[in-house]
Amino acid sequence: MHKAKAYSAASATSPLASTTIARRDPNADDVEIEILFCGICHSDLHQVRNEWKEVMPTVYPCVPGHEIVGRVTGVGPAVTKFKVGDLAAVGCMVDSDGICPACKAGLEQFCPHTTLTYNMPDKHLGGVTFGGYSDSIVVKEHFVLRVPANLDLAGAAPLLCAGITTYSPLRHWGVTRGKKAGVVGLGGLGHMGVKLAHAMGAHVVVFTTSPGKKDDALRLGADEVVLSKDSNEMAKHAGSFDFILDAVAAHHDINAYIQLLGRDGNITLVGAPDNPLPISAFSLIMGRRSFSGSPIGGIAETQEMLDFCSQHNIVADVEVIPIQKVNEAYERLVKSDVKYRFSIDMASLKAE
Ligand SMILES: [Zn+2]
Ligand SMILES: [Zn+2]
Repeated sequence: MHKAKAYSAASATSPLASTTIARRDPNADDVEIEILFCGICHSDLHQVRNEWKEVMPTVYPCVPGHEIVGRVTGVGPAVTKFKVGDLAAVGCMVDSDGICPACKAGLEQFCPHTTLTYNMPDKHLGGVTFGGYSDSIVVKEHFVLRVPANLDLAGAAPLLCAGITTYSPLRHWGVTRGKKAGVVGLGGLGHMGVKLAHAMGAHVVVFTTSPGKKDDALRLGADEVVLSKDSNEMAKHAGSFDFILDAVAAHHDINAYIQLLGRDGNITLVGAPDNPLPISAFSLIMGRRSFSGSPIGGIAETQEMLDFCSQHNIVADVEVIPIQKVNEAYERLVKSDVKYRFSIDMASLKAE
């Protein structure tokens, strides 16, 4: 066991503050990583403030962070894919049982025994797992991703959650050239959805409530931008979409979007509104449309996403901050005041 610097929250109402945590020494199949950048995901804020207490109550102290990019500083003797000095990344998962049908299918995100990167029982040290707001992390090789050398590291960090969360449903529902894909909500997730769907060759339509986001949506790769409050604009697209990615976490009228799907069209939720959404049965029945949700992606697919981003030169649009500004960043995140993701430069942690 060795010590690492980190930022943690002591309670649901405490700001994140500098601390020291324990990391295990690498086991045979472990990779030790010096963390260079860690993205700030909205889940970090929910977890730190215990806003998901019904489903996953937060154990304190809590060290969040699951958009991790860094450099390998040590490997166990059984590690074959990484050597000291390599770039490496870690997303939302650090372990799973490896034997269930989901794991065997390469869908570790659906394993009933998956270990998330933070706030999950730590099999090695006891307590809970600590995430990426830290100078280092030790992770089983299977859950470590290769980072293509051409990607900007600060912008690559958010690919590990926001990137795979949008890539996986786009792939699953067959978004490709010749398809019409919508993206609802232009935030951390939505802006990645636009970039990825555009790179997959689809005709991309962004739905937004803010006229001010139109130019940015076009810059990110949208072919069209629709103001969702304008019912005439919406009606022009009725029955025309193959797929819609819904990245809105606030309450919104889901039926207005289901109406826009064509036959066998699908709308997938990646945002998580607090309250149940009312769905009109007829809007699904007519046209055999479907409504689904999707979490992150498996490890193999996460690697595929990173390689896809490398080929298409895609990273997240980030505002790089020092760790000392993390609490301020959380306040801005609540107001959606970021284009489009914060990425923490972990070199700033050396000053603590
Ligand atoms: Zn996340
Ligand atoms: Zn499993």
